Amino acid sequence: MTARSLPVLDGLAVTARPPRPGPVTDERVAEFVTDDQVLPRFHVWTLGCQMNQSDSEEMAGALRAAGCAEAPDMASADLIVINTCAIREQAEQKVIGRMGALARMKSANPGLRVVLTGCSVRADGLVNLQRRYPAVDLFLRPDQEPELVARLGLDSPTAPGQAPRDASLQRVGRLMAATADRLPGTRAAAVAAGTVARGSRSHAWLPIIYGCDKTCTYCIVPFSRGPERSRPFDDVLAEAAALADAGVLDVTLLGQNVNSYGHDLPTDPRFGAVRPRRHLGRELALDGRPDMAELLRAIDGIRGPDGAPRIPRLRFVTSHPWDLSERLIEAMAACPSVCEHLHLPVQAGDDAVLHRMGRQYTVGAYLELVARLRDAIPGIALTTDVIVGFCGESEAQFEATLELLRRVRFDAVFAAAFSPRPGTPATRLPDDVPADVKRQRLNALLALQEGIALDLNRAWVGRTTEVLVDQVRPPRSHDHEGEAPVRPRVAGRNRENRLVHLDGGPELVGRLVKVEVDHAGPYALAGRLVGEGA
Ligand code: SAM
Ligand code: SF4
Repeated sequence: MTARSLPVLDGLAVTARPPRPGPVTDERVAEFVTDDQVLPRFHVWTLGCQMNQSDSEEMAGALRAAGCAEAPDMASADLIVINTCAIREQAEQKVIGRMGALARMKSANPGLRVVLTGCSVRADGLVNLQRRYPAVDLFLRPDQEPELVARLGLDSPTAPGQAPRDASLQRVGRLMAATADRLPGTRAAAVAAGTVARGSRSHAWLPIIYGCDKTCTYCIVPFSRGPERSRPFDDVLAEAAALADAGVLDVTLLGQNVNSYGHDLPTDPRFGAVRPRRHLGRELALDGRPDMAELLRAIDGIRGPDGAPRIPRLRFVTSHPWDLSERLIEAMAACPSVCEHLHLPVQAGDDAVLHRMGRQYTVGAYLELVARLRDAIPGIALTTDVIVGFCGESEAQFEATLELLRRVRFDAVFAAAFSPRPGTPATRLPDDVPADVKRQRLNALLALQEGIALDLNRAWVGRTTEVLVDQVRPPRSHDHEGEAPVRPRVAGRNRENRLVHLDGGPELVGRLVKVEVDHAGPYALAGRLVGEGA
């Protein structure tokens, strides 16, 4: 019987395809089998944060559900989806720099189509996009990503493609941003249809809130992703339960500001007792709604017959200090599955700089939160983000940031030089720290942090830690110059999110194991396998 073809992209080239998993043996269903000879092979190039990785999993899953096969690289694809990051100019330049190569690939393969999505595509920026990205055929804002399959003419009765719909636009500062009103629903549909193409069997991203309502003057996210939209509590719980059923061991709840989860949801009698008090930032109407503390407790409450959490490791990222309520800290301490790690971006160590950044807290308030966290969760690992060279940052103000790092002793710091983003409020301030000074400050900060991290990591030597192995490492001649050679073959993270290398084969991937640490570097630990974990 001839296979039924799905619609193809106009003019799409037919290239050699890998064989499909198996022959169709049941005559009755043969007519419904897609003919992948005419469907594009796709490749998704993901830049930026975990939210982009999660969005890419959803887009790849929708393309697979439409019958398209995944290509291992751009060169062998007929459809390239670029999921962009706009946080810094450098991230955008990385994609702009590929336009020449993409144009050459398109002349060699006239059927090649390029889709650009992610934070570089904004409601207010459409006119400039074609100029900046001339090799791109289709631009989709983050809220339009569920339309990918339909916009390419690839939707079928079996694919959860979304027909294009008018987005609702909302003014954010001087710009218009598209709201993510549809994403909670399209996510739930993709999860129900089982089409999210998860990149790992042991770890999963779980988006719980889209967009950002905060006031950080340097940041493009509120304009690219629009205002905060929480997913319904029961949808999140259903996705977590499905992940537990699938044997996923480590789940990260995702959002630009996970801690403000729930404030935009309707009140619900089940959450009548929720009355979070905020000490920082603007007041939000959270009373009577599910908040992040309720969500952690509910996911932690998915228990097995032995009474242990079925998802043994629960994480969440990113946390804004102004939403870190006492209720949330209590829930973190009370839930055995919640990992002993928090990423809490501080951005700067000087109150005047924080004020100009619109962060809505002081260094003192941040330090109080750190003390409270360390008191409630002994041994908690703290990581942070820092921007150096923000508008008007003096040498003394930068020194205050170094002092904050010495004082808190973060386990890891993700630092970057300030990069002005068009349309953000900070463009009204002079970008007056010269590029070479930004570079020097960044290097000084990284050097200081490297010493702190090495110190903290050395304290792990001799301890046994639980590692979820998730990667096979190529053998290396030595890991740390001048020190004993180690030949780790697999690696994973412990609950404190430290990277740990160990000897062992690919059979360990996806397993929780116990590792005795015998070596520490600034960015990783190494050790030997001493048993099964958990
Ligand atoms: N929502 C998180 C928070 O509360 O800070 C962070 C999300 S943002 C995508 C990740 C990090 O990018 C920020 O913490 C900040 O350090 C950095 N970032 C954002 N805008 C930047 C800019 N214009 N220049 C340099 N770094 C920037
Ligand atoms: Fe950007 Fe601030 Fe929102 Fe984080 S909280 S995404 S830094 S605006």
